[in-house]
Amino acid sequence: MYDLHCHTTHSDGSLTPPQLLARAIEHGVSTLAITDHDVISGVREAKELCAKGADIQLVNGVELSCVWSKVTIHVVGLNFDLDHSVMAQALASQQQARSQRAELIGQRLARAGFAGCYEGALAIAGQAQLGRPHFAQYLVEQGLVASHQQAFKRYLGAGKTGDVKATWPELATVVRWITGSGGVAVLAHPLHYKMTATKLRALIADFKTAGGQGIEVISGRQESEKTRYIASLAARFELLASQGSDFHRPGSPWSELGVCEELPSGMTPVWSLWN
Ligand code: AMP
Ligand code: FE
Ligand code: FE
Ligand code: ZN
Repeated sequence: MYDLHCHTTHSDGSLTPPQLLARAIEHGVSTLAITDHDVISGVREAKELCAKGADIQLVNGVELSCVWSKVTIHVVGLNFDLDHSVMAQALASQQQARSQRAELIGQRLARAGFAGCYEGALAIAGQAQLGRPHFAQYLVEQGLVASHQQAFKRYLGAGKTGDVKATWPELATVVRWITGSGGVAVLAHPLHYKMTATKLRALIADFKTAGGQGIEVISGRQESEKTRYIASLAARFELLASQGSDFHRPGSPWSELGVCEELPSGMTPVWSLWN
């Protein structure tokens, strides 16, 4: 069982790498890619555990943020060289983009009447890669919104005041970072962007032109109609199929480690590139 998309405490997940590996093994995952947002320190930590004998195969992974046609897009990088200088520079640049963005999000939320969000989110994130989920948690903890979901719906989600994307690089840039460090670029969760079919095809065409080779045909537990739709896009654009849970924390039944339906028959999986 392959699960090539999940998060740890190094970005916005709730489990540490050792906890995540234990849960993945429990859920029957044989090959796992930890794909934290714009950071690979969780992969390094997990690799050390595997060297000590954890019974699971690890694939190097990362989920890079970028922008395409004014939409924030996520590209998963798989099986790249963890120590490649191109990746090192890419991650340094992403970290800078993230902290600049966090300050801007703080300013925007202050204008919306909520002071102190930047400092609050930073304190919650601690060593982790600071992101919108930390702002959401701060708003919840301060009693300013009723739930995490409401924080995104009102202030942080796509198109809302805290959805700052000005600091992210272009799609083609992050694809080049991944391929330039020996990896394969996979378009993450294509149906999360809520695009029209026409716009989604334009995104995939540009992704392919930039050197993207894969697409997440399965992202967590999803209806088979969606799987068939993405599979048809993969076929049309001759992309390899990837699958992953996008697990962040226990208690979300639609994104549990190792819980994915099988790839439709006849598709070429992305792991055929390195197996
Ligand atoms: P960031 O990397 O800071 O842009 O945050 C993106 C992360 O926020 C995603 O990977 C999800 O974990 C989470 N997220 C994005 N949109 C939503 C939403 N509408 N509801 C809940 N969580 C979301
Ligand atoms: Fe996330
Ligand atoms: Fe994502
Ligand atoms: Zn993710």
